[in-house]
Amino acid sequence: MTDRISLHDSVGVDLLRRELGIDPHIVHRVRTVFFKKFRGREAAITELPCGVRNVFAERIQFYPLTLDARLDSEQDGATKLVFATTSGKRIESVLLRAGTGRTALCISSQVGCAANCDFCATGKMGFHSNLTAAEMLDQVVQANEQIAGENRSVRNIVFMGMGEPFHNESELYDALDTLVDGRGFNHPANRILISTVGIPDAMLRCARRYPTVNQALSLHSVRDDIRESIIPLARKYSIDELRATILHLNALQPSTVMIEYLMLASVNDSLRDAAELAEFLTGLRVHVNLIPYNAIEGAPHLVGSSRNVRDAFAAALKAAGLTTTIRYSMGADIEAACGQLVQKMERGRLARAT
Ligand code: SAH
Repeated sequence: MTDRISLHDSVGVDLLRRELGIDPHIVHRVRTVFFKKFRGREAAITELPCGVRNVFAERIQFYPLTLDARLDSEQDGATKLVFATTSGKRIESVLLRAGTGRTALCISSQVGCAANCDFCATGKMGFHSNLTAAEMLDQVVQANEQIAGENRSVRNIVFMGMGEPFHNESELYDALDTLVDGRGFNHPANRILISTVGIPDAMLRCARRYPTVNQALSLHSVRDDIRESIIPLARKYSIDELRATILHLNALQPSTVMIEYLMLASVNDSLRDAAELAEFLTGLRVHVNLIPYNAIEGAPHLVGSSRNVRDAFAAALKAAGLTTTIRYSMGADIEAACGQLVQKMERGRLARAT
């Protein structure tokens, strides 16, 4: 069998279009139905003249990922989608339906992750492979198709799933190009957020190329020794370098940088830590998002801060003038909360997708 051409590969699709003598406007309609209206493969193919439908359908790959399972939370508006890649690996995306009616989608950029942060289930898997741009985009397509019947569509796309997006930079940028392109998904850049463990060069490259795509930095401590104890990559990039990077991002971008701060008991949650964080962030355009820790296997030494401690920490930051929110954790009952993705997948506990 000849390799199929991804519908995301505009050059490849155009070659096939010429070969089959299809009008460019018709292919444009196929893309619109599939990438902007999320009406699915059959509806997209129906846009084509009858004579070329079969061959187009055979030669074009619409879905690089296979949806393996869908799990709906019984507690809140989270839905976890488990996909298999062509190489048979598993990845996950999480749909988050907010009470406001808005829907966010958390997508993965890699299978596994090389960063190996102490608190993260994906890190415990080690690194398997990078996702292609088409595989990142397919998570957006399939998630939208899943919620089309609810009259919802994905408003915010956050790269906070499995993997470190900046360890897969070129595929990430290909995916961003198609997401924001008017002939692609036409998704507003300012409703996309890339969360990173903190890789200064890549953060700046991304901000130069996509000034309105938001960035979030997983800071978790402003003391090098503590940060190094939970994030191996912190040995490479110091706190001072990260601060200089945020300052630089502020000059390149109109939006604020999100500072993610995981609250770990007796690690980074004292009022002294709050004071040091506030001092570190003075003069930067940021907002702080405190993240309750979701326990994972393989890290019995880590415990989340209590609610009181979290509230006191948030109050101290607010008193210091920082915009601070506490992340509302969704999907805990389906292992869809931050840091827990793919944790229990290989045990056959998941319902198959219907
Ligand atoms: N590699 C990127 C994106 C993936 S992690 C990054 O490091 O930002 C997305 C967010 O979830 C990060 O802020 C990460 O620190 C946080 N996270 C990881 N494990 C977690 C856990 N067990 N509980 C809560 N948040 C976690």
